[in-house]
Amino acid sequence: MGLRILVIEDEAEIADFILRGLREEGYVAEHAAEGNAAWTLMESSKWDLILLDWWLPGPDGLQLLHRLREKDLDTPVLFLTARDAVSDKVRGLDAGADDYVCKPFTFAELLARVRALTRRPRRGADTLLSFDDVQLDIMTQRAERAGHALMLTGKEYALLAFFMRHPREVLSRTRIYEQVWGERFDKMSNSLEVHVMELRRVLEAHGPRLIHTMRGRGYLLGTRAEELS
Ligand code: CA
Repeated sequence: MGLRILVIEDEAEIADFILRGLREEGYVAEHAAEGNAAWTLMESSKWDLILLDWWLPGPDGLQLLHRLREKDLDTPVLFLTARDAVSDKVRGLDAGADDYVCKPFTFAELLARVRALTRRPRRGADTLLSFDDVQLDIMTQRAERAGHALMLTGKEYALLAFFMRHPREVLSRTRIYEQVWGERFDKMSNSLEVHVMELRRVLEAHGPRLIHTMRGRGYLLGTRAEELS
């Protein structure tokens, strides 16, 4: 049985992106889009984690968090917020949030925090991703290949993390884009190709190609032998 996560978010696209991602990672995720419905779910069931948006119709995230803590429910809460002013972060944490993530965020970033807050038993193993001679630490956001540190932008890092979570799988451009960018894939845009090209350049400075183009199907993270098999 996977850990149970309640996602409280009124923006349908963001909620979809989070729910799909969490379910793909094996969590049981449920959703509320409005404060009153959210409260009913918060009270009526036991959750391992609550992802709570700040701005909501009905009681907002901060009010819900106050209510939860008043009832002495100590479910971990990860605040999702577009606010990044220091005073707002402090208000959220003071109200009893365990951590927060500012929008826009990548799924890799969110997942790292989810894993930390749910304290899964194999945390060390979960946060260190490894494929062939490439290693990536989700918690510290460091990546290396054959012992060389890789200098990656946030997007390249998120892209590499996504590939490393799905090694030897053919990943469609749509799936990669929607998971890593958190937006609907635009077939006319070449930003995915550009980032893959850049990521390859960084990786291939220290070894052979690992991200292969599967013509008409997408990309695959694999060694040369795996690509040909
Ligand atoms: Ca909102």
